[in-house]
Amino acid sequence: MIEKNTDTLSMGFFTTKVNDIVGWARKYSIFQYPFITACCGMEYMSVACSHYDIDRFGAGFPRFSPRQSDVLFVVGTISHKIAPVLKRIYEQMTEPKWVVAFGVCTCTGGFYDNYATVQGIDTIIPVDIYIPGCPPRPENVLDGLMKLQEKIQHSKQAI
Ligand code: SF4
Repeated sequence: MIEKNTDTLSMGFFTTKVNDIVGWARKYSIFQYPFITACCGMEYMSVACSHYDIDRFGAGFPRFSPRQSDVLFVVGTISHKIAPVLKRIYEQMTEPKWVVAFGVCTCTGGFYDNYATVQGIDTIIPVDIYIPGCPPRPENVLDGLMKLQEKIQHSKQAI
């Protein structure tokens, strides 16, 4: 005979619901840290304009301190010289944190197939969302942002 432990069941229900609520709150309060190095920056800025209105996703307020940010937007070509700086910024961010690779240069190195360029930032830090394009259109960026929100909602929340 198997006895049901009702206390454990109700506790499981409770933590699942709290996880859902925290996930929902986090996905609509994204504080992004823009790490911008190259031409993709122009397109990144255009997403903040009223045409695209990134504020409706709760992500319109960038922070320029890694300790106050939870999403690192890496925008532009990353050279081996600047790679340690990017890694340090990532390490300074507190958990939970996510990383978006913005543009083909950050995703794979793009057409900078040379000794000076990092061939994809996932070789130095973990990446959650890749947004391809040279540069990506604002619609692609919003699509990537919605995918990130989904990921945040479904990630196990540290409460
Ligand atoms: S992906 Fe294209 S637009 Fe973006 S930084 Fe690289 S070369 Fe520039």
